[in-house]
Amino acid sequence: MRRFLLGSLTALLLLAALPQALLCAQQAVDLPDYAALDLAVLRAAYPGAIQKMVRNPDGHLELVLTSGQHLMYDDGRSDADRQNVASASAVSAEAKKSDGTRQVFAAPDLRTMLDQVYPLGPVDEASANPKPGFDPGRSRVQGLFTALYGASEAQVRKNCAPVRFDTRTLPFNTRYGAAQALTRVWQHIAAQLPQHPEFLPVLRPLGETLVWRVIAGTKRLSMHSFGIALDVNPNLPYWRWEKHPETMPAQCKAFPPEILAAFEAEGFIWGGKWASFDLMHFEYRPELILKARALAGLVKLP
Ligand SMILES: [Zn+2]
Repeated sequence: MRRFLLGSLTALLLLAALPQALLCAQQAVDLPDYAALDLAVLRAAYPGAIQKMVRNPDGHLELVLTSGQHLMYDDGRSDADRQNVASASAVSAEAKKSDGTRQVFAAPDLRTMLDQVYPLGPVDEASANPKPGFDPGRSRVQGLFTALYGASEAQVRKNCAPVRFDTRTLPFNTRYGAAQALTRVWQHIAAQLPQHPEFLPVLRPLGETLVWRVIAGTKRLSMHSFGIALDVNPNLPYWRWEKHPETMPAQCKAFPPEILAAFEAEGFIWGGKWASFDLMHFEYRPELILKARALAGLVKLP
């Protein structure tokens, strides 16, 4: 009798657990390590916005946002293709209208977007001399940013609040901690100004944060469109106009590491670390900073 009871109880428990197990099996996609890491990074960087990854009928992984929107995570292009895309995206190719690979760069998947690991920390020999096509964060999935920050100029403006930075008050997106992060960046820098008055000429005249516009020479929206980027002194070198690119390693090394550290500590990446360099440009990309920190063993992701 006791055995029968125990048996029934086990069966009951199994029955109760079964639907749950089936549900889990449907929901949990067996993710390769790189996809699991990217999912964890996106979830941590954009709390509440990311639901899960699923496989579409073609077997390709898609990211599902909390809104139900799907974004392609891995469109199935091989790593070799990805490499070609990365090198082709270097300085000249993007400007060439006839370049077939430009399309791919213009519409990357999330895996490509997160593939190049942002080099954290002070500029060293490697980050001062990025390989052609090494532009971590510059290849972006626009649909993610319209979903996170606003799909039109009006929506983005509604999500923005004024942030004090140096003598200016700049509109910055309040979603996912961006405006608060920029506020803290300025606090870090301001606290060091008494010892480092040389910071100010690097920053001034401060450029813009929120401008709804496409990136020069492309049809892609600039991150300034979403109010999550800040240009410091616009006279700093930009790859499209720079007449002496050979001076870039020295110029990158000369950029105050304290300013760089203040931005990176708050989830911003710097365009000075791109092969397609943009030294005035800082962009709020907490997922890239988190991924770099996780891979360096500096943080543990849930
Ligand atoms: Zn910029």
